Amino acid sequence: MNYNGAFEAAVRRVKAEGRYRVFANLMRRKGEFPVARWRTEEGDVRDVTVWCSNDYLGMGQVPCVVESMKSAIDEVGSGAGGTRNISGTTHYHVELERSLADLHGKSSALLFTSGYIANEATLATLGKILPNLIIFSDELNHASMIEGVKGARCEKHVWRHNDVEHLEELLKAAPIDAPKVIAFESVYSMDGDIGPIEAVCDLAEKYNALTYLDEVHAVGLYGLRGAGIAERDGLMHRIDIIEGTLGKAFGVMGGYIAADGAIVDAIRSMASGFIFTTAIPPALAAGARASVEYLKAAHHLRESHQERAATLKQRLADAGYPVMPSETHIVPIKVGDPVLCKRISDRLLDEHGIYVQPINYPTVPRGTERLRFTPTPLHTDAMFDQLVAALDEVWEDAAVADGGIARA
Ligand SMILES: *Cc1c(COP(=O)(O)O)cnc(C)c1O
Repeated sequence: MNYNGAFEAAVRRVKAEGRYRVFANLMRRKGEFPVARWRTEEGDVRDVTVWCSNDYLGMGQVPCVVESMKSAIDEVGSGAGGTRNISGTTHYHVELERSLADLHGKSSALLFTSGYIANEATLATLGKILPNLIIFSDELNHASMIEGVKGARCEKHVWRHNDVEHLEELLKAAPIDAPKVIAFESVYSMDGDIGPIEAVCDLAEKYNALTYLDEVHAVGLYGLRGAGIAERDGLMHRIDIIEGTLGKAFGVMGGYIAADGAIVDAIRSMASGFIFTTAIPPALAAGARASVEYLKAAHHLRESHQERAATLKQRLADAGYPVMPSETHIVPIKVGDPVLCKRISDRLLDEHGIYVQPINYPTVPRGTERLRFTPTPLHTDAMFDQLVAALDEVWEDAAVADGGIARA
């Protein structure tokens, strides 16, 4: 076996499909977000405006977050030093879990090293705990949920995206007494649409299923205290397990679930991905707690975030760009071709200091390649002007060169 050849061939295939990923080497500047320093391949350093961060509110640079992290390090040092069971549970972890349980109106919460692991570990463990479980999973669920469902090693049914009639057909066809979990998301982050939470809860009641909701792209951003779409729509109490991240709107890192005490205790006791890994550093827990608490009381930031997203959608639509329908803060414009998408993105960065990475397969289906903008409250009108002017220069050229996409 020529191992090297196999790896090289794998990369060649990815390249041929136009989905080879090159990571931009960026340094954020605290206090100046969304401006960052970009280091080119040649080693030059240039200022760029970041348009695709999931630090949706710029919490990663807010003084109370940064200072809590620093003072935690000064107090207890860098790492947690062990798994949660082996001396890795600090008072910071305990307080953060309390703060998250309170945020979601649940009796308990459980931290994981990331949102990815929270999904994967929790869903897989539900399969171990509930005999003959059947999981009903939305077809556009995040990769981490898909892996969790696989790990559950139980029967699964994939329902067409946001299609509650299809979900009901599948529920109806399943044995009435089998335990069931319906797994879905609130904000789908590539299209910016929202899951039908109330209708899913109604079906869950009717068919006696548990509900599992990924609110990763909504926590911090929706609801009066930033608990997500379920809070905004008055449905939080009807969701059995809410999953979130501390890495996106909260601007730090880590993942969690919030649920009833019995559920959390069982997952805590049985989830391999929770038990056998070092706890997040105390400084992360301290920073995340500061961020969660800050955002509970910072509704003005959420309002400003929504205003910025709505304004950008309007500006891009007015300029004739194919803005994809989005009910949320996500502003995707469709390019529809991976090579073109990458070319536009490269030129925006090279020539205009605008960083928005191309979103290609497998993150989104082929033919729906797009640029995905995530304006924050810190993106100014002047930055909007600059973006639209840059797109005006790059878009036609790139499209004409490819015989592709014209503006409306
Ligand atoms: C990013 C993401 C996750 C994973 O969260 P991390 O904390 O980044 O690991 C889970 N679900 C969805 C929908 C996501 O977009």
